[in-house]
Amino acid sequence: MVSKINCICNVLKEINVFFSISEFERFQKYVEGLVNDGILIEIPVKKPYAGFPEQWYKCKSCSQVWRLVYPDFPFKGKWSIVK
Ligand SMILES: [Zn+2]
Repeated sequence: MVSKINCICNVLKEINVFFSISEFERFQKYVEGLVNDGILIEIPVKKPYAGFPEQWYKCKSCSQVWRLVYPDFPFKGKWSIVK
């Protein structure tokens, strides 16, 4: 299927659980890479997710906002679309 392949949101999938800190850190590095490439822009967090540390990123091509919530045992972290 060919549909807006230039938008990262078609590639990124929501993650409900990071199974380890290293998995989280790997993903965090991947997101940082997308920021460095100018694909995502970090924006201020407007509405925190249950008080855990998190960062918000906006897609440069479609303005979709994603949140990366840090794991904090027993919470396993989250990567999801901000609705
Ligand atoms: Zn997008």
